[in-house]
Amino acid sequence: METEILSPTSEHIAVAAAALRQGQLVAMPTETVYGLAGNGLDEQAVASIFAAKERPRFDPLILHLPAGVTLEELQGWLVDVSAFTPTARAWLGSLIDTFWPGPLTLVLPKCPTVPDLVSSGLPTVALRVPAHPVAQALLQAVQTPLAAPSANRFGRISPTSAQAVAAELGGRIPYILDGGACAVGLESTVLKLSPEGIPTLLRPGGIPLEALEAHLGLPIHLAPEQAPGVPEAPGRLSSHYAPGKPLWLLPTAFAQLQPGDWQQIQHLATGHSHLGILSFAADPQALLNHLSRHWPGVLFSVECLGSDPNTAARALFASLRRLDEGDATLLLAEPPPLSTGLGYAMMDRLRRASSLWNPPLSWPS
Ligand code: AMP
Ligand code: MG
Repeated sequence: METEILSPTSEHIAVAAAALRQGQLVAMPTETVYGLAGNGLDEQAVASIFAAKERPRFDPLILHLPAGVTLEELQGWLVDVSAFTPTARAWLGSLIDTFWPGPLTLVLPKCPTVPDLVSSGLPTVALRVPAHPVAQALLQAVQTPLAAPSANRFGRISPTSAQAVAAELGGRIPYILDGGACAVGLESTVLKLSPEGIPTLLRPGGIPLEALEAHLGLPIHLAPEQAPGVPEAPGRLSSHYAPGKPLWLLPTAFAQLQPGDWQQIQHLATGHSHLGILSFAADPQALLNHLSRHWPGVLFSVECLGSDPNTAARALFASLRRLDEGDATLLLAEPPPLSTGLGYAMMDRLRRASSLWNPPLSWPS
């Protein structure tokens, strides 16, 4: 199958909507990452999303909805919150009013309209209203919820541009709508709300956890880490978002590494003469000079994200992808400078991206 990248004109939106109505798949831009969209209420279309991504069926999908949708419209159609306490219902309403459209996914008890394949057999469904105008135009045109997981092959780096989608899924889907680079660059924050009003964070993401806690006025429980194969939030699988070559997550930024740490890393990296570096430093040349002083005779490809969390999050996956596609044989990533907000979400992604390969280093925790 040939994959066409379409500019998001109204004509092309209509072409994409027609394809979706026929059960085909279309990659669409959202503010988080590009999604691989299919009719979320058509079991066949949903099955082909799993096939195109090579995604295991235990990993449920998020349904994307048009802006302006209300809890009253969702109730009895996609979700059943009839058992929610009045407080839980009020919180849910205010989360929807405040954070939709935007990178917040809400996990709620589902109605039978939602195919079990969408929820991987769970009694809940994940819902989100994307803020990207192209995703919204497509939702308006197609008039059905769109199941849209990230448009990458399973376990790999999420795409934040149409070209990255083509590299992942070219030849497998008919259309990619090109909406430019994603503004947030990280997947949505996934929050589950119980009928008693207990919120649980299933995945950190584009909406900072602290913003949700401030809004609700209470601490949010973190879902415990899960063993592979046990789905409640498969975004929490220990390996995910992974490049094809080894990636090690460092204990600190290069600027703060102690002499003993340098020795340990250099020993473990013996045999790699070209390293890919993902850094939160501002100045690539200064970092390159620092690295070359400590590590003579080694070539470096450097990606500097800078210390601003919004800018860094926007660039994270594209930088990882460039390093993965380049000539380096081993990638080293610094931890984000801040461990809150988007820094927390980026650390989550880097932990999972590196989890297959992290060497047995004795870093301070
Ligand atoms: P992706 O579409 O690749 O961003 O992945 C969607 C993620 O949403 C899954 O990996 C889960 O983390 C989460 N998710 C979707 N549906 C549910 C659900 N019913 N319960 C819990 N988490 C869900
Ligand atoms: Mg994904």
